[in-house]
Amino acid sequence: MPQINGGTKICGIFGYPVEHSFSPSMHNAAFEHLSMNWAYVPFPVRSPDLPAAVESVRALGLAGVNVTVPHKQAVAGLVDELSPAAKLSGAVNTVINREGLLAGHNTDGEGFVRALREEAGLEAASAPVLIIGAGGAARAVAVALALSGAPAVFVTNRTEKRAVGLCRLLSDGTGCETAVVEWPCETEQMGEKRYLWEDVLNSVGLVVQTTSIGMSPDFDSAPPFPFHLLGRGHTVVDLVYNPSHTAFMKRCRAAGARVFNGAGMLLHQGAIAFELWTGRKAPLEVMRRALKEGIGN
Ligand code: NAP
Repeated sequence: MPQINGGTKICGIFGYPVEHSFSPSMHNAAFEHLSMNWAYVPFPVRSPDLPAAVESVRALGLAGVNVTVPHKQAVAGLVDELSPAAKLSGAVNTVINREGLLAGHNTDGEGFVRALREEAGLEAASAPVLIIGAGGAARAVAVALALSGAPAVFVTNRTEKRAVGLCRLLSDGTGCETAVVEWPCETEQMGEKRYLWEDVLNSVGLVVQTTSIGMSPDFDSAPPFPFHLLGRGHTVVDLVYNPSHTAFMKRCRAAGARVFNGAGMLLHQGAIAFELWTGRKAPLEVMRRALKEGIGN
């Protein structure tokens, strides 16, 4: 536990609910390791209270906050300036307070790109990517990949109009080549879709599963997917990190793909936020250990 005193710098997380967040243990472990007089506090903030909570960052002199569900989009309209990724994705997960000026960043997407490089050894610009899902996490990841030079982004989503919206946002905002792909069905029902999916999976090197399917306690569910078309040339990332091996990951691995869960993204988004607030390099292995203990794997 940090010794709180007059010089302690405070940061934290705004969300509702927020008690299950792993960020406090990850950041407080980092502060302790570096003997920094900082503390990270979870703040349960209900939606009607969000504008006052954001104002309190200034009023109380907090160094900054993370922002989680359900506030990531609303906070983008409450800060003074936005990073290019936050502006394009319309979502903020990290606020920095620079002497009263609040800057909104999206380290989720950047964290994904950094995790891809450092955990999977893959550069965002190296191959076209397929994104499964078109919600908030999909947006953050797709925008970061496009801004990092991904040659093309394919999007498939149960509700197709959200996939269309995401593709439009990417092509208008970054010039990245995009295409919507019809939502897959079970392999034996694919019919003509089989050829479309063969083409898509022949051209992509990275598949990112961004839907909430497979999250605990929904251990056995996976989105429909032509798993048999995957192979050794594919890297698959499931943004779900609890459980650490989703049903989707197991089926992709069985087909020969390299698979990763979402813990790397969670770790690196936290490390980037840490660096933005403190100006110091994040002690990654300390944060990784705290996260692992929190998630329980
Ligand atoms: P969201 O904005 O609510 O989006 C949910 C997405 O899942 C949408 O594309 C939705 O499709 C799809 N979906 C949900 N249930 C479905 C079903 N039964 N069948 C087909 N599609 C379904 O949620 P989010 O914030 O993007 O979060 C999505 C996942 O990412 C969660 O598991 C979350 O924990 C994870 N995440 C991980 C990290 C990390 O650091 N690793 C960070 C952020 C989020 P429709 O559009 O058709 O509804």
